Amino acid sequence: AIPLVAQISTALGARRGLLVRDRAAIETARRIDVVLFDKTGTLTEGRQGVASIVAVEGEDESEVLRLAAAVENRSEHPIGKAIVTSARERGLKLARVKEFAAHGGRGAEAMVDGRRIAVGSSRLATERGLQIPSELVLATRESATAGHTVVYVFEGERVLAMVALADVVRPESAEAVERLKRSGVRVAMLTGDSREVANWVAGRLGITEVFAEVLPDQKADVVKRLQAGGTKVAMVGDGVNDAPALAQADVGIAIGAGTDVAIESAGIVLAASDPRAVVDAFTLSKATYRKML
Ligand code: ADP
Ligand code: MG
Repeated sequence: AIPLVAQISTALGARRGLLVRDRAAIETARRIDVVLFDKTGTLTEGRQGVASIVAVEGEDESEVLRLAAAVENRSEHPIGKAIVTSARERGLKLARVKEFAAHGGRGAEAMVDGRRIAVGSSRLATERGLQIPSELVLATRESATAGHTVVYVFEGERVLAMVALADVVRPESAEAVERLKRSGVRVAMLTGDSREVANWVAGRLGITEVFAEVLPDQKADVVKRLQAGGTKVAMVGDGVNDAPALAQADVGIAIGAGTDVAIESAGIVLAASDPRAVVDAFTLSKATYRKML
């Protein structure tokens, strides 16, 4: 006989590209109470682009971009890739760096031309006891209100500039959220990004439960907290950061275009990276196990 999982994979594969890696996941899917979506790369395409750069008085935007891109050239984060692309588009030549370090969920840093340059979130600034200069506060607020992710470029104790990055919300995300809610499933968002940007994306998708500014090693804790009292949680994510949360969830669902680590931690893979396939997985789980029991 053809194994059940293979049958399910085939049936769903024909629809929205669902791959079942673990049979238990499809069995549990019909009992899910909450679906927790990662934001960047899951609800959004995760293909960020630099929307604007604002340097402080006395600093040149191109020069700051060149320094930031040299650091990010070593980073695997989508924000890093966007900064490098933007620098290349402007014809900037990137210096080789020394002492590169990635600070998960916060930023990255390295020595560029003998200068210690960091690129990262306001959390990184706060952790280092740095204040965002008042001349960047308004630009930051404007960008966040437009749903743009903001990072800063630092040299030692000084903040040189802010860089705003725009991402695209996947056109399929709204329908996925709506259909889940209509079927009586709670929908929540989990992200390392700022509260403003998280709320902006959540607002467009009708998500009211938002966990923002969550560090990579805390994502699994959020899943655990939701699971307290027997609540069954599905987690949908794409990144290395999401792997522990995917493994902790009752059903881990990875976006097919995501990282290998995320895919290996998930029971179900959305081969076509379409979040609506989450709904298909639940529907199929219900149909399959209703017949069997
Ligand atoms: P998400 O949960 O949305 O996938 P991450 O946990 O990967 O986000 O990152 C959270 C935040 O950390 C980003 O929004 C950014 O501010 C900062 N960050 C992480 N890596 C980098 C990097 N390489 N360069 C700049 N900022 C970064
Ligand atoms: Mg992500």
